[in-house]
Amino acid sequence: MSSPQIVWLRRDLRMADQPALHAAAKAGPVIPVFVLDQERAGDHAYGGASLVWLHYSLESLGKSFGGRNSRIVLRKGDAPQILAALADEVGATCIHAIRHYEPWWKEAEDELRDALGDERKLCLYDGNYLLPPGSVTTGSGDPYKIYTPFSKAMLERMPPRDVLDEPETISSPGNWPESDVLDDWELLPTKPDWAGGIRAFWDFGEAAAHDRLDWWTDEVAEYDEGRNLPSEDITSRLSPHLHWGEISPAQVWHKLKDKRSDGWRTYAKEIIWRDYAQNVIDQFPNYPRESYREYDERTLWRNPNAGHLIQQNLECWQKGMTGYPVVDAGMRQLWQTGWMHNRVRMICASFLVKHLLIDWRFGEQWYWDTLVDADYGNNGVNWQWISGTGVDSNMFVRIMAPLTQSEKFDAAGYIREYVPELADLSDSEIHDPPDSKRGDYPVKIIAHKEARERALEAYKASKS
Ligand SMILES: Cc1cc2nc3c(=O)[nH]c(=O)nc-3n(C[C@H](O)[C@H](O)[C@H](O)COP(=O)(O)OP(=O)(O)OC[C@H]3O[C@@H](n4cnc5c(N)ncnc54)[C@H](O)[C@@H]3O)c2cc1C
Repeated sequence: MSSPQIVWLRRDLRMADQPALHAAAKAGPVIPVFVLDQERAGDHAYGGASLVWLHYSLESLGKSFGGRNSRIVLRKGDAPQILAALADEVGATCIHAIRHYEPWWKEAEDELRDALGDERKLCLYDGNYLLPPGSVTTGSGDPYKIYTPFSKAMLERMPPRDVLDEPETISSPGNWPESDVLDDWELLPTKPDWAGGIRAFWDFGEAAAHDRLDWWTDEVAEYDEGRNLPSEDITSRLSPHLHWGEISPAQVWHKLKDKRSDGWRTYAKEIIWRDYAQNVIDQFPNYPRESYREYDERTLWRNPNAGHLIQQNLECWQKGMTGYPVVDAGMRQLWQTGWMHNRVRMICASFLVKHLLIDWRFGEQWYWDTLVDADYGNNGVNWQWISGTGVDSNMFVRIMAPLTQSEKFDAAGYIREYVPELADLSDSEIHDPPDSKRGDYPVKIIAHKEARERALEAYKASKS
């Protein structure tokens, strides 16, 4: 009998189009392993909402393996050490894994390769992006830094590779190694259980991802017009499924590629943003932590650690109590459901860094902790894009006006849903309620005009 093959699962929690599983299943009995390694990622260890998703996604995938007379071995601790020891224990010749581009995973892959020595191999596969990050380069062979030319080059190379079916056979080893019990990891909050809103909003796992994609296939034509309207359900909401690898972008692309609508063409470019973000963190591993522009950051940002009032401003933003209904609706949607509509993510991020002049990294960390799709690349790249601090275009002086945005994109229904204390206001008043009709809802934390002038002044000073 051939030797067991370990499949190291990370954010690739699916059975179909899973190249590592596919290769392992062809080579011998399969031992799928998930290692919870929270130390390694430092300040980007999974946040609270991510842990909730991870629990349900592992539970779902565990059932799928169970249906194939297989299982997932769960371990906790230093991933390379655990995997190398496991390979010794079961006599595995190869550990198969999909490549990941977060710096801590790249390091872990190097450490594992060293720990396995010459006898055993780490076999890495591409599978979570349309094209392998780093493979799309400019005429001079350099990776792209700017989205637009990257996107053009990507589109020329589409469609992506063909998708793989679920392996026909997944054979089991003679003996299963010990596994932790998922519930013992206590990934779900209990006291209090704040995850009810997340459970109500989402279905987790690979089958749910495909159900959502099936639904989206009929809706994608509306995306071009509808994607900016937070009151409507006209985006795919595939982000956590894609982030956790419950579905691959190649599967999404092939399912939609024959659509002829503007909606699909626009959607394709959004999926490419995801590849772009991985290309950025592949080149700049510290991107979600470091600014890339020359200016005096101490002059620009107000630091919440340096003053009680600034800290209070940050908390008002986090809790959805800024007095700007569309911002507060977004921040409350995030807290309740672990997700926020893209248009509102932009408005809220812009509000933090420009209206409140708070360093984007405080926002990046809050989104990191509260989003079920919190993604090192996507989150870092979008925060830097809004803040104008990254390697792409400088957006700082484009200050979004939350009240105008709210009206323009018809956010009344969205505000009613997430800021119920304003639910009785008319469409004409709900975007910017008069003080006399606010009741318990707070007054504006800062007036828009004043905030705009302060931001532009601070920006000028930081550059001089
Ligand atoms: C400040 C800020 C932080 C963000 N943080 C994250 C994050 O941590 N994780 C995350 O997945 N997305 C993030 N985004 C991007 C975007 O808001 C979400 O991907 C999108 O709202 C998810 O909803 P959807 O699946 O319905 O998207 P759709 O509009 O249906 O788009 C389809 C897919 O394309 C990808 N995508 C779309 N827009 C972007 C984008 N701007 N950048 C990268 N990929 C994109 C996502 O995988 C998404 O699922 C952030 C945006 C902003 C402005």
